[in-house]
Amino acid sequence: MSLANKLAEERRARLAAERMLELKQAELHSANRKLNRQALALRGEVVERRAEVETVRNENALFKSQLGEAHQQIKVATQKFVVAERRLWHSINTISDGFAIFDADNEMIVANASYLVIFDGLEFIKPGVDYTTLLQALTEEGIIDTGDLSASEWRQMMITRWAQPQPEPVVVRLWNDQYIRLLDRRGDGGDVVSLGLNITESVLYEQRLRAAQEEAERANKAKSAFLANMSHEIRTPMNGVVGMADLLADTRLSEEQTLYVDTIKSSGEALLVIINDVLDYSKIEAGKLELQPGPFDLERTIHEVILLLQSIAREKELELLLDYDLFLPTIFTGDPGRIRQVLTNLVGNALKFTAEGHVLVRVTGVTDDATGVAQIVIGIEDTGIGIPAEKVEHIFGEFNQVENERNRQFDGTGLGLAISKRLIEMMDGELWVTSEEGVGSCFGVSIDLPVVGETEVDHGMLPKGLRDVLIIDDMTMNRAVLERQLEQLGLSVRVCIDGDKALEQLPQRPDLIIAAHDLCGMDGLALAAKIRETGSTTPILMLSGNVDVAKADPAYRHVAGCLQIPAPRRKMLEAIVGLGDLIDVKKDAAAQKSEVTLRAVEDPAPSEQTDLRKMRILAAEDNKTNRLVFSKMIKTLNVDLCFAENGLEAVEMFQSFDPDMVFMDISMPIKDGKEATGDIRAIEAKKGGHVPIVALTAHALDGDEEGILAAGLDHYLTKPLRKQEIHTIIETYWPDHTLPLQEDKVLDEAG
Ligand code: ADP
Repeated sequence: MSLANKLAEERRARLAAERMLELKQAELHSANRKLNRQALALRGEVVERRAEVETVRNENALFKSQLGEAHQQIKVATQKFVVAERRLWHSINTISDGFAIFDADNEMIVANASYLVIFDGLEFIKPGVDYTTLLQALTEEGIIDTGDLSASEWRQMMITRWAQPQPEPVVVRLWNDQYIRLLDRRGDGGDVVSLGLNITESVLYEQRLRAAQEEAERANKAKSAFLANMSHEIRTPMNGVVGMADLLADTRLSEEQTLYVDTIKSSGEALLVIINDVLDYSKIEAGKLELQPGPFDLERTIHEVILLLQSIAREKELELLLDYDLFLPTIFTGDPGRIRQVLTNLVGNALKFTAEGHVLVRVTGVTDDATGVAQIVIGIEDTGIGIPAEKVEHIFGEFNQVENERNRQFDGTGLGLAISKRLIEMMDGELWVTSEEGVGSCFGVSIDLPVVGETEVDHGMLPKGLRDVLIIDDMTMNRAVLERQLEQLGLSVRVCIDGDKALEQLPQRPDLIIAAHDLCGMDGLALAAKIRETGSTTPILMLSGNVDVAKADPAYRHVAGCLQIPAPRRKMLEAIVGLGDLIDVKKDAAAQKSEVTLRAVEDPAPSEQTDLRKMRILAAEDNKTNRLVFSKMIKTLNVDLCFAENGLEAVEMFQSFDPDMVFMDISMPIKDGKEATGDIRAIEAKKGGHVPIVALTAHALDGDEEGILAAGLDHYLTKPLRKQEIHTIIETYWPDHTLPLQEDKVLDEAG
């Protein structure tokens, strides 16, 4: 091979090598660059990782510290818990009351020392024991006093109780006279927390209290008995004092003597009012006063009150009036005795604190047809001294009075209103007052009373010919009440203030004239005479405050009837109905002379009377003075009076004497009044009839009246006896077929 070839070949080889080198260098560069990039990337990653590691490390450190704190807290909490648990347990163990917890399967979970102490020595009574075993131990070991129950009955009772969702507390008595009240509360999971409270102290205290209460009740009974006896003992001689003074007042006395007698009477009566008030108040205080509801006539009851107080009104020249709503029934169920007591107090006060004007008792009411109960409002209105506004509440308190100079002149205990208010409250009613000083007061009583029936009077029985009535009365209130009542009956009413005005009205030919006896100027009887002089035969019904005085007047023969005022609406209606013939005859034969008719009224034929006998009254009374008082009190009445000195005699004389009416003392030897009445009622049950028996008693305690009425007596009068009361009650029961009670009597009332 040529050199040139060789050289060429070498050059080619060198060139190829150089290219190769370049290529490799380029590859190397590229690889270097890549390596650099990767190195760079790696470095970034390393930085990131390092940061992450740092973060994790930091977090780790934080966590570690938190963990440490948490550990610390747990440690503290655990310590606290341990302390708390120790304290709680210590407390539970320290308290003297037993504490235990049972699970839903009735197994004891835990119990404190007090709970376990009563099982002293019984090792099996500990957590894990079941309730039944525990009960068993209590009875078998004699730990519990099961009282009247046998051991098994007691356990049964306790198990039944335990099974209740919320067992009722129970008191158990231990052998050593300790009393434990068991309180068991079941929780949501069925666990029962059981507490045993030692109530020995309070049981003993209660026992002591009960013993003290029994002692107090015994003392109270002794006090009541003492009061009853005292009342009886005081009333019996007082009956003699007041009764005799009453009679003495009717005899001829000098002015000075009259003053003495009146003082004896009023002091005696005042003393009795005080005794009654104090007795009643102590009864209410002791919660011993009970209402005795029964059917009664409200209107009649109010009338009795008014009649009783009428004499005071008359003495003070006050008008005392009753306005009883004509459309209100009169028979209700209620306690008439207590209602009478309240009204006597209120009307009595009204009269006491009124110097002039009137006292009006107004009764209104509405009946609820659905329930048959009437809401009754009784207003007692006076024109007296009134009550200052700031004292209105005060006067209803015990022993409270309006203390001013004016008031001091009036007697009284200040108990009346307190008693009345309590009584009305017992009836679920209200008592209030509205008053203006110097003008007057109005006391109001509202009570709901079940209606028993309407009044017995049939309005439809009014005389057919009765249309126009002329009223003559100078008392404004009287006129207004009468006018309203008669107008409610559908009558046409004209009113006059005096006799002269009445005479002017005569040409109007009224069908009936109702005139007051006591009129200014010409009195009612003089007016009656004048009316007759004019030739008028119109029947005249007189309203008199004193019927006896009216009857003694020769002009009395001109009137057809006379009513004691205030007259109950029923009596007034009965009187008008009783005048029916006179009114109708007059109307029918207006032209005819009615002298005959009138004479018949004025002078009843003597022959009608001669067959009549006197009313027979039997009075049973063991006390000689009282017999004397009684006989003197009725000596002006035309009656046959017979005395029995004890209950046995009363029963015998009831059969032999055949009385129309009996007055019966309650406390009598041999046989008391209640027993004697029972015997009389038994006799009547066989042979028929019902003789009114009126109790006369010195007993003033509550419950006496009910006891007396329950024994078959019809009425009840408390000693000391008052002549007026006795007369009124005799008049009430006076039988038609006997001679008039007043010898000079022609017509007591119309009809
Ligand atoms: P007493 O009448 O025995 O004093 P009350 O309790 O019945 O006792 O009355 C208490 C007081 O209320 C009376 O003393 C009197 O001051 C006052 N009071 C009662 N009723 C009236 C009345 N109608 N008018 C004026 N004051 C009255």
